[in-house]
Amino acid sequence: MSECELIKTCIFFNDKMADMPSTAEIFKNLYCKGEFNNCARMIIVKALGRGNVPPDLFPNQAEKALEIINKR
Ligand code: SF4
Repeated sequence: MSECELIKTCIFFNDKMADMPSTAEIFKNLYCKGEFNNCARMIIVKALGRGNVPPDLFPNQAEKALEIINKR
């Protein structure tokens, strides 16, 4: 299974976000080591660039990511 290319520096994967959810490990397996193209953080990286990813955006918030992109 392939991994997200951002895994080494991603604040979510490296537990650097302010409020890490108890489900973090599940999300890491689900997104970072699996469906990384569906990760909300990755969606913003691709659409707007890495500097535009909100620090509190979790991988499972794709809907919120699309809202942010659509507001641009
Ligand atoms: S899948 Fe998302 S949360 Fe995981 S390392 Fe990649 S950008 Fe970060």
